[in-house]
Amino acid sequence: MIEQTTTLQKIEKELLPYNASLIAVSKTKPEEDILELYRQGHRAFGENRVQELLSKQEILPEDIEWHLIGHLQRNKVKYVVPFVHLIQSVDSPRLLKEINKRARKEERIIDCLLQFKIAEEDTKYGFDLDTAQKMLESEAYKDMGYIRIRGVMGMATFTDDEVQIRREFQRLKNIFQELKTKYFADRESFREISMGMSGDYKIALEEGSTMVRIGTLLFGEREVH
Ligand SMILES: *Cc1c(COP(=O)(O)O)cnc(C)c1O
Repeated sequence: MIEQTTTLQKIEKELLPYNASLIAVSKTKPEEDILELYRQGHRAFGENRVQELLSKQEILPEDIEWHLIGHLQRNKVKYVVPFVHLIQSVDSPRLLKEINKRARKEERIIDCLLQFKIAEEDTKYGFDLDTAQKMLESEAYKDMGYIRIRGVMGMATFTDDEVQIRREFQRLKNIFQELKTKYFADRESFREISMGMSGDYKIALEEGSTMVRIGTLLFGEREVH
């Protein structure tokens, strides 16, 4: 029997030369869809809503690595801290502080990415470089023993303009480099640049992405409500 190459295998093969990892974005999709990829060996899944993440995590296999990729309200931090693999959407100093507080209670070090505003379109969430630098230089940050910042995350503008998308990804790469040099030079663990979605991950890889977040290509179009 000739096995068909799955979309998962096809994307994994594309990522190989870049040594980048794949987060399967399963938001709005049912558990069966997640299990299908799970059976093919995939373990890293991303959700953008806490409630949905919790209900899926409860019934799906324990060794799934859950990534939170959407805005996290501070009053919901306590629900994800016990199990989350990586919070990719840390977008304010106050949120980071709350994650550290809950992580200390849980005695669990939480891996985080700092989300940056790189798109030209007006996005609500994400750091600008100045705010992030002030935070990383603050005494409060130095006391956060339960946080490990692993890198940065960003989303490009939703557009067909490849030049613009490329420029925005370059912006994120530059932010990463600057933070790496200034604050994380001796930290092996600061190494992730999470950028690239179904429509733009090839550009993201060319611009230095280490982690792509792909939903539509793997699971099909989502229904818009
Ligand atoms: C939905 C989403 C994705 C995946 O988008 P697709 O275009 O379906 O691949 C990636 N990142 C974030 C933050 C998302 O919310």
